[in-house]
Amino acid sequence: MIPRVPLLPTPFLEPRHDEIAAFARKELAAPLTRIDDEFAAGRLDEDAAARAAVKAMAGTRLLHEAVLGEARSLCVARREVAWISGFADTMLALQGLGSCPLRIAGTQEQKRRWLEPAAFGALIPAFALTEPEAGSDARHLRTVARRDGDGYVLDGEKTLITNAGIADYYCLFARMADDGRHVAFVIEPGMPGLTVAQRYRALAPHPIGRIELRGCRVPASQRIGAEGGGLDLALSTLDRFRASVGAAALGLALRALGESRSHLKSRKQFGKALADFQLLKAQLADGFVALELAHLAVLRAAWLTDRADGAAEGSDAQAADRKAAAAASSLAKLEATEAAQVIVDRAVQFHGGQGVMHGSVVERLYREVRALRIYEGTSEIQRLILARELLQGSLAGEG
Ligand SMILES: Cc1cc2nc3c(=O)[nH]c(=O)nc-3n(C[C@H](O)[C@H](O)[C@H](O)COP(=O)(O)OP(=O)(O)OC[C@H]3O[C@@H](n4cnc5c(N)ncnc54)[C@H](O)[C@@H]3O)c2cc1C
Repeated sequence: MIPRVPLLPTPFLEPRHDEIAAFARKELAAPLTRIDDEFAAGRLDEDAAARAAVKAMAGTRLLHEAVLGEARSLCVARREVAWISGFADTMLALQGLGSCPLRIAGTQEQKRRWLEPAAFGALIPAFALTEPEAGSDARHLRTVARRDGDGYVLDGEKTLITNAGIADYYCLFARMADDGRHVAFVIEPGMPGLTVAQRYRALAPHPIGRIELRGCRVPASQRIGAEGGGLDLALSTLDRFRASVGAAALGLALRALGESRSHLKSRKQFGKALADFQLLKAQLADGFVALELAHLAVLRAAWLTDRADGAAEGSDAQAADRKAAAAASSLAKLEATEAAQVIVDRAVQFHGGQGVMHGSVVERLYREVRALRIYEGTSEIQRLILARELLQGSLAGEG
């Protein structure tokens, strides 16, 4: 039984979201933990473990909702799966992130061929935006697309791409060679000119690498949306997933808090349990407060996204909710990932020397939580977004 601290109720979730959480705890904890254990023992390599994690979630309502459902479902699914395994959360997140451009702008045929199979766990997607010279500054892509007969020819490089090497397709962003407008495509392994040039070993297990495109020919039927629509598509995708990164951080922090509570109660020093020392009690309570506040922030952002999705298409109400949701998502990602880092770090400290030994849960969490402050917009970029909204007086909201 994994030790767990209960979260206080919030006004943002409905019974359908709680069912997703209950399903994850009941049905996924054992298989996903087993995959982590097999990987740690060297019986599965990283790619096999990644595929096994997707397979363990394949065909479940949790995966389907995370890819095609509400933002709140995605957040609850990521919170729960990250509580079990940060590695499995990466795989869950990418099923949605990697296919989301198709959800937003794909044709019916593209959705049938690539989006729906991702929602069922039958295909593994990737989201290819970052380049060696375009990280935080994602607008200034150097990958170019030249029109060529009834298709396009792509040249460039994408780096730090999760699932590079195991993906069944990449939603990839480039700029038109003639006028620099952004454009998106679905690229498949095996297309001449596409190579996985490098695989990286990350701090925590994570299939990730660099791909190169050299004269890679793509049929026009694999363009996603219109020429010129690529940047909006990339940013809308990231807007939708940003709060869910915070949700994953909360899952890791929740696990750390549960481990902390168990350890503080069972470990004795100076003749009493660590939990009897006021200094440590205060730190535990501070972690709980930070977790609860970040949880509220994450669920509010997701709730605003769902409210915007449900508003009349193109209405002023929808535009206002989209704007509020974007700011709330930046706030939530920043708050939750930073809070989780502190909570996990304290959990390591509570565990003393054992906390930094390979094989301890808190040591794993310590490695897993770090990247969340970097990907999908670093903490600095979230601060810049929020400061810009404040300084321009353009925050959509009450008061
Ligand atoms: C585990 C992991 C998985 C990833 N998966 C994907 C993926 O699947 N697809 C994908 O496209 N990308 C992916 N990325 C890339 C990720 O989105 C980028 O790492 C991130 O956007 C930061 O870009 P960068 O690494 O180039 O850092 P840089 O942009 O070079 O930033 C370096 C530092 O400078 C700071 N900085 C930059 N600009 C400013 C500024 N204007 N003001 C203040 N500070 C600034 C940053 O906050 C950061 O601390 C992944 C990254 C990681 C770590």
